Amino acid sequence: MPNENNSGILIYAQLTRECYVHTVFFELLNKAKELAQKLGGVDVNAVVFTVPGQIECFKEAFRNMGVNKVYYYENEIFKDYSTEYYSKLIVELVKNTKPEIMLIGATNQGRDLAPRVSGALHTGLTADCTGLDINEKGLLAATRPTFGGQLMATILCKNYPQMATIRPNVFKVNPENNYAETEFISCSANLAEIKNRVKLKEFKKIIENEINELDSAEIIVAGGKGLKNEKGFELLKRFADKIGGVIGATRVAVEMGLAPVSAQIGQTGKTVHPKIYIACGISGAVQHTIGMEGSEHIIAINNDENAPIFDIADTGIVGDFFEIAEEFLKG
Ligand SMILES: Cc1cc2nc3c(=O)[nH]c(=O)nc-3n(C[C@H](O)[C@H](O)[C@H](O)COP(=O)(O)OP(=O)(O)OC[C@H]3O[C@@H](n4cnc5c(N)ncnc54)[C@H](O)[C@@H]3O)c2cc1C
Repeated sequence: MPNENNSGILIYAQLTRECYVHTVFFELLNKAKELAQKLGGVDVNAVVFTVPGQIECFKEAFRNMGVNKVYYYENEIFKDYSTEYYSKLIVELVKNTKPEIMLIGATNQGRDLAPRVSGALHTGLTADCTGLDINEKGLLAATRPTFGGQLMATILCKNYPQMATIRPNVFKVNPENNYAETEFISCSANLAEIKNRVKLKEFKKIIENEINELDSAEIIVAGGKGLKNEKGFELLKRFADKIGGVIGATRVAVEMGLAPVSAQIGQTGKTVHPKIYIACGISGAVQHTIGMEGSEHIIAINNDENAPIFDIADTGIVGDFFEIAEEFLKG
């Protein structure tokens, strides 16, 4: 399909229930700015759904982070996410504004929204990407794991907009202000024309402290099958507490009941990038490393000197975790 879409990159700005712009938006924004430069300096725009008047609270954040245009929809009904309203209005907006790329955070909400938008627009969607780039033809090259994480595939989209979802924590937020004279465009939402078959009956918050802790942890001490049993994880916890670290785990350790699902790091778990990641008794399977290889400094403790984790470790300690941790705790 020829590219008539030339209004730059559109990002869905999800709001949290606590009324913040979800961090994943700023992560995508930072990456989108880089892609926009490669496309010759196109605009990076956002779409957001708010209750009346609420956009004022977010204007400064959008300006400071250098968003060119913010398309906002206002209605009391947008207090809660609505699959049908949001997706149909975004489809309408995309048809009118013709972005060449649309990015959505792969949060629970984004995972519901993105396929509906791409389906209605008859365009492709690369889900759960771990990398984005612009190829020599100026197309979005979206990379994601495939074949159970054994291979990384770079996928191109034939239609426009080229769509991708990206998990939180894959890209970093640019802490620098990147001020822009953001244009705020109020969009009219003719909700009467949209059939809304989904009703939110109740909202229950599941409090998972570990998830938030892992997201912001500077030190993560992660355990794998090599820790063998609960005693191994108790030792890991004492070790982590001593250095102010938060516990992470491999999927195998979670499956063994040694750590909660919320502590799982990797392809089907969380993506983290702490300052220090200490991998204890972890072999370094690609499905695990994909979620932690962005850590600033990786330390691996493993009794097998050939364990693949040493290939990505900045510091490698070959030895028995139990002996090393006990010795460390004595000091
Ligand atoms: C579709 C799919 C998705 C997946 N998603 C994930 C995911 O999100 N996250 C994830 O982690 N995995 C995931 N996996 C599983 C992944 O493939 C690996 O099986 C898993 O990461 C291995 O976990 P491990 O390193 O704890 O165990 P192992 O691979 O068994 O490694 C244990 C390591 O401990 C070392 N060891 C043993 N004893 C000691 C000791 N006393 N001291 C020090 N070291 C010791 C061993 O040398 C070994 O290297 C997924 C798999 C599939 C197919």
